[in-house]
Amino acid sequence: MDNKKQSELEKKLLFEKNFCWEKWGSDIKKKSFEFCEDYKHFLNKVKTEREAVAEGEKIAIQNGFISIKEIKKKKIKDLTGSKIYMVNREKNLILAILGDDLLKNGFNLIVSHIDSPHLDFKPRSLYEEESLAFLKTHYYGGIKKYHWPTVPLALHGIVMTKNNKKININIGEKEDEPIFMITDLLPHLSRKQLSKPLSQAIEGEELNVLVGSLPVDDKNAKEKIKLMVLKYLNDKFGIIEEDLFSADLQAVPQGKARDIGFDRGLIAGYGQDDKVCAYTSLQAILQAKKSKKTQICFWADKEEIGSDGVTGSKSLFLENFVLEIINLYKESSVKDVYQIFAKSNSISSDVTSGFDPDYKEVYDSKNSARIGYGVTIERYTGSGGKYSASEATAEYTYKIKEIFNKNNVIWQTSGFGKIDEGGGGTIAKYLANRGINTIDCGIALFNMHAPMEISSKADVYSAYKAYKAFYES
Ligand code: MN
Ligand code: MN
Repeated sequence: MDNKKQSELEKKLLFEKNFCWEKWGSDIKKKSFEFCEDYKHFLNKVKTEREAVAEGEKIAIQNGFISIKEIKKKKIKDLTGSKIYMVNREKNLILAILGDDLLKNGFNLIVSHIDSPHLDFKPRSLYEEESLAFLKTHYYGGIKKYHWPTVPLALHGIVMTKNNKKININIGEKEDEPIFMITDLLPHLSRKQLSKPLSQAIEGEELNVLVGSLPVDDKNAKEKIKLMVLKYLNDKFGIIEEDLFSADLQAVPQGKARDIGFDRGLIAGYGQDDKVCAYTSLQAILQAKKSKKTQICFWADKEEIGSDGVTGSKSLFLENFVLEIINLYKESSVKDVYQIFAKSNSISSDVTSGFDPDYKEVYDSKNSARIGYGVTIERYTGSGGKYSASEATAEYTYKIKEIFNKNNVIWQTSGFGKIDEGGGGTIAKYLANRGINTIDCGIALFNMHAPMEISSKADVYSAYKAYKAFYES
């Protein structure tokens, strides 16, 4: 909207959306593009939870963070300003910069999640059929199954072998490495398949990844192709078939994040839900000025399947971390933790749905986030009559938007789509249930949960600025 054409009264009273590219000067545009170059490098390195934690821990250490165990040994007298981190089972990372008095002031916390929809492998996944070897998958998170056949796939993860050795696997990302693929039916024979609803066109049991086609040189072997795959895995990694049961191995879309469009304003990349918020919140805590409130950045796991389990945000890892910090000062109790929670503020930093002009009918055009219009503030998620939503209070919503306003952060309101069209959730309610003020602030995407998701560089940078302002508040 061109401000010059607005009347004084309109300017005074109306709540307008701001298009970052029109509001920002060339300096900040340039900064946003530079910021996103680093973000793309991060996406390229990090496709699984474990890879995210390893990379995040590396960045944290480079920036002076010390593990909670090491901090304990040091017996520092004045802990203010200390940078501390803790890792949970290689799948959660939490960083804190200590403020003045945690018990009195509480903390400013940003939680994102580092798991993304992908294909896991079944407990007994390797099989042979028609002189071909496949791995049977079990999809993780809310995928559209028809997206996955014919997409180049890479294998990422770890395998625990018999002698308690942890083997890191990463095959398919380098140019001279093979890739993997799920086949699809040719159109010529797809009359029945094409008449099915999209939700049934590809079944979960059809998501089998093609991994081999050559026989092992052993006349007496029954399944020569399967055995050849095992022989490769054994020669290269020392893996036997049973080891594939004790593995966290994922098939993920192969390849790097890329710019989209002649003007390069958008980014296509796998796993931006929610690594875009993980990256921007990490950069925000690294760059933020110190606050009297303790600053915490938490990367959670298992959000895409309900946040349960030892590494999900329903686990007590956050409580444990806060207990460990209190222990640096005094004997602590769980009571202290909940008193701190009550004085604390948080942002659930997660992606939301951008208004897609090709699918207008599912969006409430007045309330949907637009790509390029800045960080989103979403008071509630859920579905139906706000079912399963932890709605932020009016007071907390006011507080957050004013932090952004004071710091010239371009922000917009967002909602998932039309009422009763569907819905979704985030980590917000698991924070709110603990008595921590929380609100969803994130980035609008196209193609959410597809093998390649799309973000705007303006929104990525705007989220970074928003999170930094929140940490400094
Ligand atoms: Mn998410
Ligand atoms: Mn998601």
